Amino acid sequence: MSDGRVLGRVGRGRPPVAARMHIGGQWREAASGARLDCIDPTTEELLGTVPAGAAADADAAVAAAQEASGAWRALGWTRRAALLRDLADAVGEVAEPLAVLDVLDSGNPIAGMRGDIESAVRELHYYAGLAGQTHGVSTPTGPDTVSFTKREPYGVVVRIVPFNHPFKFACGKAAAALAAGNAVIVKPGEQTSLSAVALAEVAEAVLPPGVLNVVTGTGAELGQALVSHPGAPRVAFTGSVATGRRIMVAAAQHFGHVTLELGGKNPLVICPDVDVRQAARSAVASMNVARSNGQSCGSTSRIYVHESIRAEFTDALVDRVREIRVGDPLDEANDVGPLAFEAHLQRVSGHITRAQASGATLATGGSRPGGTGRGYFIEPTVFTDVTDEMPIARDEVFGPVMSVLGWSDLDDVVRRANDTELGLTANVFTRDLRVAHRLADQLQAGYVYVNGTGRRPPGSPFGGWKHSGFGKENGPEELLSYTREKTVTVTLPAEDPDWATP
Ligand code: NAD
Repeated sequence: MSDGRVLGRVGRGRPPVAARMHIGGQWREAASGARLDCIDPTTEELLGTVPAGAAADADAAVAAAQEASGAWRALGWTRRAALLRDLADAVGEVAEPLAVLDVLDSGNPIAGMRGDIESAVRELHYYAGLAGQTHGVSTPTGPDTVSFTKREPYGVVVRIVPFNHPFKFACGKAAAALAAGNAVIVKPGEQTSLSAVALAEVAEAVLPPGVLNVVTGTGAELGQALVSHPGAPRVAFTGSVATGRRIMVAAAQHFGHVTLELGGKNPLVICPDVDVRQAARSAVASMNVARSNGQSCGSTSRIYVHESIRAEFTDALVDRVREIRVGDPLDEANDVGPLAFEAHLQRVSGHITRAQASGATLATGGSRPGGTGRGYFIEPTVFTDVTDEMPIARDEVFGPVMSVLGWSDLDDVVRRANDTELGLTANVFTRDLRVAHRLADQLQAGYVYVNGTGRRPPGSPFGGWKHSGFGKENGPEELLSYTREKTVTVTLPAEDPDWATP
């Protein structure tokens, strides 16, 4: 019988693993015994299965986290920080098997997944360093009172993450909540759950039982049960707009505090003063094609390029996209692997079909590449002759699909870039500092990149505006968001003159 662990045991041609959930320090099956398949999107073969958790498992996870949370908080921040650093080191020691596991389970390229593991390690170190910064303030009072605030952890934090950066999100997005003194329940995307199980394996040797619980299952069953749970006062969600809306409604029933990192339809405004070939290369990089096949919330899928360089830019973009090597993501010679799962391939293909039907011109890509005939591959795709009203310019595709639109008036392109319900990132390529600052000021997004999309210094807060969500992550604010403020006013006893005289 399997012990439920997966690290170093998953591979092509190997027997499928039977992973388990990790709740309260124990490896467990779902109460129902049901399981979900984990498919390698490159070969379409079964890598293993994970428990299909549901409401009873959510209850167990919340109970375990509640039980562990008091001692974790009482440990104090210096000890917690030390343990988070130990966890970072332990993750670093198995970085390569973790990266390979994510490649197999998600289809993301190996170089990108190595970067993802490094990023998770950085997050652990970053929040270990900040762990003591949950202090309050004192309020000036008269001589007979002392008044101050303190920040206390919620106790239990539910952390729901999507499929696209499996380990980076399962691990890195737990760091701040743990540092703040909470026990955490991580629920990964059901399509890419294996590396979250591996996280539990690594953490088991470092953290006290119940401090980091990993549960697996679908969003509809397990996710919904977790976010509706009255024992989960704080829910942090990364995923789609539609799910974010459902989570707000569910958490509202018990006044759960929610932060939401949701989708994007991010504009990239390219000004006429750029080096056109370099801009084309950077536009492809901004789509995160090589890191996660365009399955990134930050992908810049709406490219507004100045009319004076539009033709030259489009040619350079198409040339660059045609250079992208699509194939087995474990092979370092390839830039891009398949999409993460079959239903997503259908979804992305549907966006491409609708774009053509609405009159956009397919400049390159759009098909499933030949080859083995297996795997959920789709060619990186560029559309031209796109107008603002077309679905391809409005809907999040979450795949390697770019649309080129032209502009000639700066105010007008700002209006068009902002004409969306989403507001995750906005992106600008220009050498003109005045234009850069003007656009940074006027674009409606939670994060604006000028000349270097995705280059986020550690600690720079990330989070959307409008329907892209609310709450900032990756900076000090995220740490504080896992605490609640309490005000304490102490009225001092009336002065007793007898005390002063021996
Ligand atoms: P999704 O919303 O379908 O699923 C995300 C997670 O939510 C999964 O773990 C899923 O099981 C769970 N879930 C689904 N329904 C639920 C429910 N009713 N209650 C609780 N949990 C539920 O998203 P996805 O397809 O996995 O990911 C793609 C989306 O995520 C895109 O829209 C993308 O832009 C977004 N995303 C945002 C960020 C960001 O930082 N803003 C980062 C990555 C991805």
